[in-house]
Amino acid sequence: MDMSVPRLMYDAHQVRRRGTWARTQRRRLARLVADARDRSPYYRELYRGLPPGTDDVTRLPVTGKAELMARYDDWATDRAVTYADVSAFAADPAKAGAPYRGAYLVVTTSGTTGRPAIFVKDHRDVTVNLALSARMMTSWLSAADLARIVAGGGRMAIVAATGGHFLVAAGAARIGGGPLRGRAPRLFSVHTPLPELVDGLNRYRPALLLGYGSVLRMLAAEQEAGRLRIAPVLVEPAGESLSAEDHARMARAFGAKVRDTYGASECPYLTDGCAHGWYHVNADWAIVEPVEADHAPTPPGRPSHTVLVTNLANRVQPVLRYDLGDSVLARPDPCPCGNPLPAVRVQGRAANVLRFGGTEIAPLTLNTLVDRVPGVEQYQIVQTGPAALSVRLRTAAGADDDTVWRAVRDGLGGLLGAHGLGHVTLERAGEPPRQSPGGKYRTVVPLEEPA
Ligand SMILES: [Zn+2]
Repeated sequence: MDMSVPRLMYDAHQVRRRGTWARTQRRRLARLVADARDRSPYYRELYRGLPPGTDDVTRLPVTGKAELMARYDDWATDRAVTYADVSAFAADPAKAGAPYRGAYLVVTTSGTTGRPAIFVKDHRDVTVNLALSARMMTSWLSAADLARIVAGGGRMAIVAATGGHFLVAAGAARIGGGPLRGRAPRLFSVHTPLPELVDGLNRYRPALLLGYGSVLRMLAAEQEAGRLRIAPVLVEPAGESLSAEDHARMARAFGAKVRDTYGASECPYLTDGCAHGWYHVNADWAIVEPVEADHAPTPPGRPSHTVLVTNLANRVQPVLRYDLGDSVLARPDPCPCGNPLPAVRVQGRAANVLRFGGTEIAPLTLNTLVDRVPGVEQYQIVQTGPAALSVRLRTAAGADDDTVWRAVRDGLGGLLGAHGLGHVTLERAGEPPRQSPGGKYRTVVPLEEPA
């Protein structure tokens, strides 16, 4: 198949227009499964009981992050991709976005639900991402919007964790490579104190604003207060899904369209958000299955226990029926926006913002900081009082427990100080990180609000 962006864009539009995605999906799944069985020792073993030519996703055994990370060196279809090799590459911030082994993109997760993971994407994945971004942008933006963006110099600001191989930064390529190709986005660090961030954005005057949902919510409050004075055409929250009220408030504050997507590092182009608040599955390149705890399908209209995701593009590390852990609800009837692709809403992933008086700290700000501390196996930052944090920490085998804790404490202390929260106390909890009733490890747990 011709994997050029124009060819894929044409293909992506045709599929949506003609509603032929179901047939395309089956054909792509059959090829992906055959290739995974052929070249990945992990999938060869997992699928040994399956008949050849399987193109029915519901017949595939379920997999997930824990299984794939545990079998990392058996997972990739390129046998040179090993955990030792890719983690050495990912540990070098200077190499973020550079090709790994001359061919691949490396993406690390920020660890909102446990230990960080490292994903390797091939050329096909990256190209499909660009083509679907173009499809998304053309569905989001009118000709008048595009004209305003061009008049605004096409300036895009991304507020993200810097100094790592994170998805939002990789997402810059997603939009930057679309119809707005040309100007490199300006990256602003989430670790910058808020007044400095506001000042930087005021000077840059972005036409497009992209960043973590909880950070954009804080920026909307700054805009309402008159300290932030920007006029973006499009605001795209990423990484954490927000409530409908948050969306409406952002749209009002910025006078902009607010659109987001529901995706994951494992499949960034899983869905595109529509004006009616639904996420439409890019069903020609991804499969989304809302399921019960026993993996039986959840009927549309009801929240699922979890969701299984299949990425039909990436061949180097196949993601097939992968348990993402979110509760989603499939729309039972056609969406009024007119997009015929299946639509879902996400129940999980609400941003766990920490509040200290009038100051808010986004969880991903903390995650991206602690993720960078060497020797951290797993952690949970729990707010235990109006000005108190307790850190549950599990250190990696061979790491010095005290050294790791001091690095975490100093890092968090510095971050709090930069936000004017030097009075917040930090202590190490006696107990290890705990699972929530849903089975997830939340890395940031805000103080329970009084009923
Ligand atoms: Zn819709």
